[in-house]
Amino acid sequence: MNSISEAAVNGDKISIRAPRRLLYGPGPSQVYPRIYQAMAQPIVGHLDPYFFQVSQQVQQGLRTVFGTANPLTIPISATGSGGMETVVSNFIEPGTRLGLFVGGFFAERIAEMARRHGAEIVRLDHAWGEPFSDDEAAEFIRRERPQVVAFVQAETSTGVFQQSKALCAAAHEVDAVVLADCVTSLGAMPVNIDENGIDVAYSCTQKGLSAPPGLSPVTVSPRAQDRLKQRKTPNRSWYFDLSLISDYLTESHRYHHTASATLFYALHESLAIIEEEGLELRQQRHKKAHERFVAGIERMGMKMHVAEGHRIWNLNTPCVPEGVNEAKVRAYLLEKHGIEIAGGFGPLAGKIFRIGLMGPLATAEGVDRFLAKFDEAIKETA
Ligand SMILES: *Cc1c(COP(=O)(O)O)cnc(C)c1O
Repeated sequence: MNSISEAAVNGDKISIRAPRRLLYGPGPSQVYPRIYQAMAQPIVGHLDPYFFQVSQQVQQGLRTVFGTANPLTIPISATGSGGMETVVSNFIEPGTRLGLFVGGFFAERIAEMARRHGAEIVRLDHAWGEPFSDDEAAEFIRRERPQVVAFVQAETSTGVFQQSKALCAAAHEVDAVVLADCVTSLGAMPVNIDENGIDVAYSCTQKGLSAPPGLSPVTVSPRAQDRLKQRKTPNRSWYFDLSLISDYLTESHRYHHTASATLFYALHESLAIIEEEGLELRQQRHKKAHERFVAGIERMGMKMHVAEGHRIWNLNTPCVPEGVNEAKVRAYLLEKHGIEIAGGFGPLAGKIFRIGLMGPLATAEGVDRFLAKFDEAIKETA
């Protein structure tokens, strides 16, 4: 190919051929072929009645995967970080007291966003990889009495899944609103928004939902919606102002931004796939794949970074064994087998691998195929 335009005018060809990777990393995750087909459907306008029909069905599907009856459950036109900024910017205004649980990179990102939006932050810090117990979470909240509490349900930088029922109950005792990062867990693990008592949550499309990146599902409880009405100042972010976005997607359908019909089709297909399999069966499939993976890792003589019972099913973090060069292992897998995985960063740089088993790869075959190549990569790069 000599130039982009030359390829583009050559009607029966397209200008790029992306390599076929096996996405065993923390995201983006492997996309079902059906989702690519849905994305090839014709674009309709962002105010077309058909678009709102798709949007409505997407909102219903999202309530199911979130485990919520919240009427305000919508996809934001942004990646997971945009969902984070939506939630932070709407529930934090200058002087808001935020109680934040920090045990990894993404909780630090919440802290940085909240700081920029003027929060007064009180933190409870843990080493990366250690969950918060019910008692210490409740004690922290009762002592600090924050107006807003935030935590990361599935901390992708460490592999920890944070339980939250007691944390949410304590927050409600002091009349705080609870914000949860469910970016990695949604679609693969029981997120259970209503059962846990989470008021507001955000996620993304490219991890547990196994669709391409670009949308960020957000859900807001009626209680949290009331809190929004009590804001003293308008959201400093216009694009992520929930009152404007929900007016566009759920009420007047007045133009706010040009939502991508293509990405809505992709999310619609992802939710249809989940509905066909059944949410609980899908979650159990991820759990079984995780257990098979851990058994295989232990057979290889390796250890998991996170204690049993606190692990994310769809994002596994085995420790890098002594004498293994994790960067070389990752490069080998990508070059030889087109397999993508990730390493640790921050305090866990060089210490863990981050291996995703999501969507179509969360099967016995998906695990076995990976472990065989992983074992080979460790031996070949030694
Ligand atoms: C990936 C991730 C994000 C950020 O999502 P992007 O889609 O990369 O913007 C936020 N929180 C957690 C826990 C994540 O894993």
